[in-house]
Amino acid sequence: MSVETRAHTALHVVKGAIVKVLGDGAKWSAGASVDGSHGRITVQFDRKPTDDEVRMIERLANEKIREDQPIEVHVLSRVDAEARWGDLIYDLFPLPERITELQVFHLPGWNVNACNKEHTSSTGGVGELLITKTRFRNKKQLLEVSFDLVE
Ligand SMILES: [Zn+2]
Repeated sequence: MSVETRAHTALHVVKGAIVKVLGDGAKWSAGASVDGSHGRITVQFDRKPTDDEVRMIERLANEKIREDQPIEVHVLSRVDAEARWGDLIYDLFPLPERITELQVFHLPGWNVNACNKEHTSSTGGVGELLITKTRFRNKKQLLEVSFDLVE
């Protein structure tokens, strides 16, 4: 399993942990990137998180990894995906109308997102991660959370 696949899968795990700790106010992803074993997820949010909240996000993400929960990948029509999960499958910026079939990443109880990338088969494949930096951009109301996989 490539390090990019592990780091990409980690984006979903970290995103789920962000929403668990910060609540539904952080449910809209505004961007995500991976570079080797480094990843960064950006969510819409209205304040800087406390240090305790950041440590809790890291802790919950690593607990979810250690749990080694199986990851479900569904390919289904957009209509069926919306009927099942509503707007939870979407990010801040909408998918073009012309896309009528979706691949959906689903980690039940944790994260669901339309995503056509490759993932590990279970959360354990990610390995341990460390949150290395957070940055809150007040004007844009965006929170960036950066992490590294521990090799
Ligand atoms: Zn994905």
